[in-house]
Amino acid sequence: MLVLTVRTAMNKTADAALKPAQRDIITLGIAIAAIILFIGTGGTVMPQIVRSWMGQGSAPDMLLTNALLLNVALLLFGWRRYKDLNREVEVRRRAEERARELAERDPMTGCLNRRSGPIAIEVMRVEAAKREEDVAVLLLDLDNFKQINDHNGHQVGDMVLTTIAERIAKELPADGLQIRIGGDEFACAIPFEYRARDRVDALADKLIQIASAPIKHEGLLIEATISLGVAHSHTTAGDPPSADKLIHRADIAMYHAKKRGRNRYFWFESQMEDELRYRNELETGIREGLQAGEFVPFYEQQVNLETGELVGFEMLARWRSPKYGLVNPDVFISIAEEIDVIGALSESLIRQALVDAKGWSPDLSLSVNISPIQLRDPWFAQKLLHILVENGFPPHRLEIEITESCLHENVGAVRSIVTSLKNQGIRISLDDFGTGYSSLSQLRSLPFDRLKIDRSFVTELAGENANCELVRAIVSLGKGLSLPVTAEGIENGKVLDALTGLGEIKGQGYLYGRPENADATRKRLAKLGLLVEGNSDTETGADVLDADADRLAG
Ligand code: C2E
Ligand code: MG
Ligand code: MG
Repeated sequence: MLVLTVRTAMNKTADAALKPAQRDIITLGIAIAAIILFIGTGGTVMPQIVRSWMGQGSAPDMLLTNALLLNVALLLFGWRRYKDLNREVEVRRRAEERARELAERDPMTGCLNRRSGPIAIEVMRVEAAKREEDVAVLLLDLDNFKQINDHNGHQVGDMVLTTIAERIAKELPADGLQIRIGGDEFACAIPFEYRARDRVDALADKLIQIASAPIKHEGLLIEATISLGVAHSHTTAGDPPSADKLIHRADIAMYHAKKRGRNRYFWFESQMEDELRYRNELETGIREGLQAGEFVPFYEQQVNLETGELVGFEMLARWRSPKYGLVNPDVFISIAEEIDVIGALSESLIRQALVDAKGWSPDLSLSVNISPIQLRDPWFAQKLLHILVENGFPPHRLEIEITESCLHENVGAVRSIVTSLKNQGIRISLDDFGTGYSSLSQLRSLPFDRLKIDRSFVTELAGENANCELVRAIVSLGKGLSLPVTAEGIENGKVLDALTGLGEIKGQGYLYGRPENADATRKRLAKLGLLVEGNSDTETGADVLDADADRLAG
């Protein structure tokens, strides 16, 4: 590791370390002078003393004898002082070494830290440029560290970080650098020849592979994966990027890898910066839009396929953005989940929908989609019931739709939330059934009321050689588990024909109409005579938006 280079970069500390060494040389000089003086005076006085003892000459000169004695005392004193100073210098050197270690290194993993790391990369880059070489910075971030911490505690989290750090260190070449950027983020830097990009690719592949090997600890088996971004310093135009810029670019590429499904790596490309900017704008737009009440419910009809009768609506979120127009949930739901506003967003939509649905015939149900993130909130059931009570909406008219991905999360916690909602009369359906990996035992262990066959299976029924076996199998699975079925995505008569005769199925899709806003829905219901008598002028969800926006702002 290139610790030495970091040291040279920190000249100031080295200067401070020179002072005791200078003192050391002066003391040594004095001692040598005293020895020379001792040899000089001793050479004259000692033979005189010996001759005087043997009775062959007169007593030595008193002045010279005193000078010799003084010289001996000086020599002893000087020697002691020299040793003391030496010890003092050593203690000081060790303390400085330790202080530098603490300032440069992350105490938990021993990696260079956020402060010393970029300096070391800078030094590496300059040295590599002299040899006409490039430097690659690889930034890696654990994909599921929050869950590891939440499920197993911080001690296990720390153990995972040190294990990953050790594994990385083993893979780095002798001239590589390892830095802990912070939290679960590490950076590595290696010099490489311009044309040897494959060396960096091989390292990135290897790091992804070793990070995903299971970690065994006190009977636990923990699986972690990493996403990785790579940036390199060589440029043919302009100044080469600074170490901080390299880390920033690698970070953008790492973020891109996360978006593309995690557990993979990407090299930085300039358009990634634009994507990130767009994404940041969306994030800000969502936060501000939530405060401004720009998120509104749209409603999609749900129909009894046998009778053709309208039985309820699924509420689908829309974002009326002044900048982007009417935005579909595929764009904003996942971002709202990531920036942790999905709870507030969903509650605001449900409040509006309950107000809208109060004016509808009491026979019509209302389905709302719930994100897996919301089911991590232990207070979710209470919050939902509170909103129902607040709006005087009967729980039996509400159905919540959760996706199969909820079943991978902490099933115990999901079960307790789902059970308490069911106890209040709310119905639960499993949305997009068939796209996830729910096991049959999980299906039985959670008290679902309905299966919603994913649109992809239903649209297939419109194909040339329509194969309705899969849909038929899901319907009969539903029958076996006493779960009624809804088919979503019915776009045309052909699909409807294929579905009729499969049993009592509910359906929804563009054949019956696109999702509509509250006003259009009311108009549709008015024509069908499905509005509550004398309730045609009731306030709408849009009317409560202002109050809701105030509540969010407050
Ligand atoms: P989903 O719950 O499966 O909703 C059905 C989606 O299929 C809706 O898309 C709907 O417009 C679309 N769809 C319905 N019939 C047809 C059809 O015949 N053909 C085609 N091609 N599409 C059809 P949308 O509104 O874009 O919603 C997408 C997803 O966003 C929803 O899928 C749901 O998972 C999620 N979502 C919507 N609103 C919310 C919400 O308030 N909270 C949460 N957490 N998720 C929501
Ligand atoms: Mg749904
Ligand atoms: Mg669905």
